[in-house]
Amino acid sequence: MVILGIESTAHTFGIGIVDTTGQILADVKAVYSPQEGGIHPREAAEHHQAYALRVLSKALAQANISNDQVNGIAFSQGPGLPPALRVGAVFARSLATSLGVPLLGVNHCVAHIEQARFFTKANHPLVIYLSGGNTQITTLIAQRYRIFGETLDIALGNMLDMFAREANLKHPGGPKIEQLALQAKNGYHELPYTVKGMDLAFSGLLTASKQLLSQGVSLEEVSYSLQETAFSMIAEVTERALAHTQRKELIVTGGVAANSRLKEMLQIVAEEQSAQFASVPRKYAGDNGSMIAYNGLLLLQAGKRTAISESRAQPRWRLDQVDIPWGA
Ligand code: AMP
Ligand code: MG
Repeated sequence: MVILGIESTAHTFGIGIVDTTGQILADVKAVYSPQEGGIHPREAAEHHQAYALRVLSKALAQANISNDQVNGIAFSQGPGLPPALRVGAVFARSLATSLGVPLLGVNHCVAHIEQARFFTKANHPLVIYLSGGNTQITTLIAQRYRIFGETLDIALGNMLDMFAREANLKHPGGPKIEQLALQAKNGYHELPYTVKGMDLAFSGLLTASKQLLSQGVSLEEVSYSLQETAFSMIAEVTERALAHTQRKELIVTGGVAANSRLKEMLQIVAEEQSAQFASVPRKYAGDNGSMIAYNGLLLLQAGKRTAISESRAQPRWRLDQVDIPWGA
């Protein structure tokens, strides 16, 4: 069995192809990068439309298959930017209909998590999911990913990108802030640390970081202080969630999972709670089509499929609203 997956929730138009064992036969993407400012939803959608066919033929060539060998079409149904999601949904519907194969609507957050679980071979982990649009600490209980903590305002990745924009760095800002933080010389500047119960808030930290910058503190030092503060907040909530759930595995996924300092902190938290720490491989930390294909495979194996009438984009589809039939 071969499943093709389409990702189009935000900046990335990706197509991945997996076989029955979950092995990735192809993973191709085109990434929209705004000339200035953040992601513009309509421009992202136009980008995806323009690249869809090229990405598809590249993916089929990489997998060395023709489209009639595909047994199912999975797509990112939500959450995400409505115009971008719609491009993926339309493309998926027409492919599934013309090939006469099942259509599989995938929750983007579940896809990140299940792909991380596949790579790390974690069985029943606590999951830290940190991307441009999401910040969630979650674990599977009774066939649902239950959210133990999340952001109350903006996502961690989004906050890093917004700060970077203020500093005139190009999108995405996370990797650039990581590099700048390594060059900080004079240590830590105090910044707002906001943990409320198990939830987090990043907008105060963003505002104060911008202020530090405008007061003339070097970009390297603000980047360092910003990272230390934000990642410590994540580490604190993670530690409490590990202690509470007694999970013995901790994994991190989403674009921000590429960050080495973050992983270093989570590794320490895991050790202190006698848990094994693992991260999704850097290459698959961000949005990609193969995670959608893999989730489509899991759905198909569980006997699920999505009727065309149910395949509308779901921009606000929450992780904890999704039934996980393969879960414990
Ligand atoms: P995703 O939405 O999962 O594709 O993740 C994109 C987000 O990951 C953006 O906000 C990026 O700034 C962020 N990101 C990517 N690489 C890094 C990194 N090395 N450190 C921190 N954030 C990163
Ligand atoms: Mg994502």
